[in-house]
Amino acid sequence: MSTAPDPLAAAAGTQDLAARFTHEFGSAPAGIWQAPGRVNLIGEHTDYNDGFVLPFAIDRTARVAVGVRSDSTARLLSTYGDQGIVTTTLDSLEPGAAKGWTKYPLGVIWALRRRGIDVPGIDLLLDSNVPLGAGLSSSHAIECAVITALNELTGAGLEAQEMVLATQQAENDFVGAPTGIMDQSASLRGSQGHAVFLDCRDQTARLVPFETEPAGLVLLVIDTKVSHSHSDGGYASRRASCELGAQVLGVKALRDVQVGDLEEASGLLDEVTFRRVRHVVTENDRVLQTVELLAEQGPSAIGHLLDASHASMRDDFEISCPELDLAVDTSRASGALGARMTGGGFGGAAIALTPAGSEQKVRDAVVQAFARAGFTAPDIFTVSPAAGATRIA
Ligand code: ADP
Ligand code: MG
Repeated sequence: MSTAPDPLAAAAGTQDLAARFTHEFGSAPAGIWQAPGRVNLIGEHTDYNDGFVLPFAIDRTARVAVGVRSDSTARLLSTYGDQGIVTTTLDSLEPGAAKGWTKYPLGVIWALRRRGIDVPGIDLLLDSNVPLGAGLSSSHAIECAVITALNELTGAGLEAQEMVLATQQAENDFVGAPTGIMDQSASLRGSQGHAVFLDCRDQTARLVPFETEPAGLVLLVIDTKVSHSHSDGGYASRRASCELGAQVLGVKALRDVQVGDLEEASGLLDEVTFRRVRHVVTENDRVLQTVELLAEQGPSAIGHLLDASHASMRDDFEISCPELDLAVDTSRASGALGARMTGGGFGGAAIALTPAGSEQKVRDAVVQAFARAGFTAPDIFTVSPAAGATRIA
């Protein structure tokens, strides 16, 4: 993967984007739509176990200016990278055919067409300030911006849940990434000052108040720059362990195992499988506790759950790495209320819930610790719970 854009760089203004579109494609866009990346506050590797997750939409978005064409050609351009305009016909879209970033918008078109929605040819200009490959789901930000635009432009009238499933089909079957419904649920359903509590079994979602600023807190994202990849064997082997655990314990999914069942489970499972199961079971419980605490006491009360989540991923699920552990340990030692790796693991980003007054201290300490350890300098920035996908022009 090429290097990520500077995550602190603001995306171009809306008018600039429209002007660039007109310059590139020869006429003005029909509109501009945006969709955010997401951070998972807590609930990791619980999604494919029918469990609970608690992501929130962040104040970093992919924006797409889109114009409708009278033929079935797509012309696609991103302000990032140097691929230039990619031109393709929509009539022969097949999984595996698209290359590079265009597989995200083309995957969405493919999934919509499979649903009988007559997507016309389009011109599309993408501009995103969601860092790539940092675990903030820059790919779903693109897909959600595109599906929100096309839902409106085609008059398809899809509900959020249908768009969630269509983007999942795009990622799974067209892009070839075995992802669940968390990322696009956060991006499509997110709301300012809220996290999205998602039950991955019945796929219901509920907004939970999560406001950092009024509580005097900031949420720091520490991008370790260690690249993560779903194609690595680690993800597949964790899924396999969970399936084995559920099978041996005689449940449909690990969602059906409670913390109180763990002692008995330890006698039935091999040592490694037991630890994998224990992570998922305790993590589900931590999500429920977090939802309760956020509603009753606010974000200052959840630090210990973030810490426990990290320890569980490091020791039981074994998906952390030295950079993530250092980011988490250093943040806590310099004032964060709680910190954890977020995302699938083996790299990507950590989050640190930090009193605003300690932000600089945490930043400095992490940068220094990484330098001392000889690690690549991390990118550190704040995110706040922001609105979900919407039209902006
Ligand atoms: P994540 O979704 O966690 O950021 P992925 O590997 O799923 O990581 O998605 C990253 C991919 O998304 C990039 O390799 C690139 O193809 C695409 N992408 C993200 N942002 C942009 C952008 N601004 N322009 C072009 N492609 C992008
Ligand atoms: Mg992705």
